[in-house]
Amino acid sequence: MLTKIPHFINGQAVSSTGDILDVYQPVTGKKSGQITVADQACVDKAIMAAVSASTRWSLTTPLERVSILSRYQRLLEQEIEHLAKIITQEHGKTVNEAIGSVQRGIDVLSFACGIPTHLKGNFTEDVSSGIDAYSLRQSLGVCVGITPFNFPGMIPLWMLSMAIACGNTFVLKPSEKNPSCAIRLAELAKEAGLPDGVLNVVQGDKTTVDVLVTHPEVKAVSFVGSSPVAESVYKTAIANNKRAQAFGGAKNHCLIMPDVDIESTAKAIVTSAFGSAGERCMAISVVLVLGDSLAEALIKRLIPLIQQLKVGPGTDTDTDIGPLISQAHWERVKSYVEIGKQEGAALLLDGSEYKPDHYQDGFFMGPCLFDHVKPHMKIYREEIFGPVLCIVRIPDIGTALNLINQHDYGNGASIFTRDAYTARTFSKKVEAGMVGVNIAIPVPVAYHSFGGWKKSVFADIGMFGEEAIRFYTKLKTVTQRFLAEK
Ligand code: NAD
Repeated sequence: MLTKIPHFINGQAVSSTGDILDVYQPVTGKKSGQITVADQACVDKAIMAAVSASTRWSLTTPLERVSILSRYQRLLEQEIEHLAKIITQEHGKTVNEAIGSVQRGIDVLSFACGIPTHLKGNFTEDVSSGIDAYSLRQSLGVCVGITPFNFPGMIPLWMLSMAIACGNTFVLKPSEKNPSCAIRLAELAKEAGLPDGVLNVVQGDKTTVDVLVTHPEVKAVSFVGSSPVAESVYKTAIANNKRAQAFGGAKNHCLIMPDVDIESTAKAIVTSAFGSAGERCMAISVVLVLGDSLAEALIKRLIPLIQQLKVGPGTDTDTDIGPLISQAHWERVKSYVEIGKQEGAALLLDGSEYKPDHYQDGFFMGPCLFDHVKPHMKIYREEIFGPVLCIVRIPDIGTALNLINQHDYGNGASIFTRDAYTARTFSKKVEAGMVGVNIAIPVPVAYHSFGGWKKSVFADIGMFGEEAIRFYTKLKTVTQRFLAEK
């Protein structure tokens, strides 16, 4: 019997009728649950619950919101291992990776608990004689979040924490591939005292997204997923007069300079490229190495490190790489490995057919390493989103910067060097939203903001941190004069 994963509307788990989608357990490759795709009627119900809760929630004081959100934070912290198990079951990543990711979501909630300070406006006395001006930030109303499969806890928390702290109500549409974590997030929010209707979850796919993004009561749409969908959701949302931000795919480069410590650099690259099976928008997927001798030395160190990685179920404590999300995604990643070979790149390690014992039907794939990748190749230009690392040998730093800057994607980029001037030049000139210096996964902490450049984003405003306060509120400026009583 497959588990029916509900929607969560107005504080209740709710079922609906309509198209059914299966949810899989990547470790076994078997079906584990089902969702019903939320249709117009179901989405209407969720949005009307959010509309009804909106006025009251927007009138709560920031401190009242904090008291609920900080209780929510404590409940999430207490339940982090359980949430991680839910994520591992439906996503496949290791329990430790899942715990770490939920913690990154909780970090944003913790930042959101500073909302009384973040919402303090500005006041200027006597902008003209007897006239004062002040600006304030007010909530928008109903906000929508559409999230990808690869972080079923973290990314929903990034969005909903900030939206709700700013006084909005929220409708979340999680990935149809791992819908259960979102339901537990909503249940815990209710347990923390969040009024019914402030946070709602609807399950579904494109059909549901289309209704959400065009719904007249929705004021803002936050999206994270692949670039083609991000672009389409963004354009539809703004054409329907919504505020919108859509974060897309990535091809993150890491430049290795000759002065690095090879041992620690190789370790950082391996963790970044193969953690979460490479299904991470901030994973390093291209290593740019200066010259042949450095490339040989790095590869010599990378190969044994990669060979040591244990591919297995995410619940095993010694697993490094869990399964991919689905059979379809496995086939997509596998097709890139074949394309890379046909394109003439040198496949130094090929784990693409690897399945751990007893898990022949799971969506497992071992790590793959390509050398002599060239910029015209598809495996260089396109996002693979799996455990496949490409090495590109380059003659100088200028070529490296040109390659990164001309690439379609611009989510993140890193440099490994001990030379401060080189690092500074790289950071200044590189066209990417998040930059790492001797850090391979430069995801900012919760009180900075997150967001790529170029095809990695369709928005001009980032996620979490101060940017999120701007996204989830509208600015009002009041200029006032009071005449003396006669
Ligand atoms: P996806 O684009 O397939 O799906 C994302 C969301 O959009 C899901 O909720 C899905 O149901 C919905 N969706 C799918 N197709 C749609 C369509 N045609 N119209 C409307 N909605 C649609 O992405 P995914 O496979 O779930 O996630 C992986 C992608 O997300 C990768 O490209 C990865 O780089 C990207 N990602 C980006 C970031 C970032 O911050 N930039 C973070 C995580 C993941």
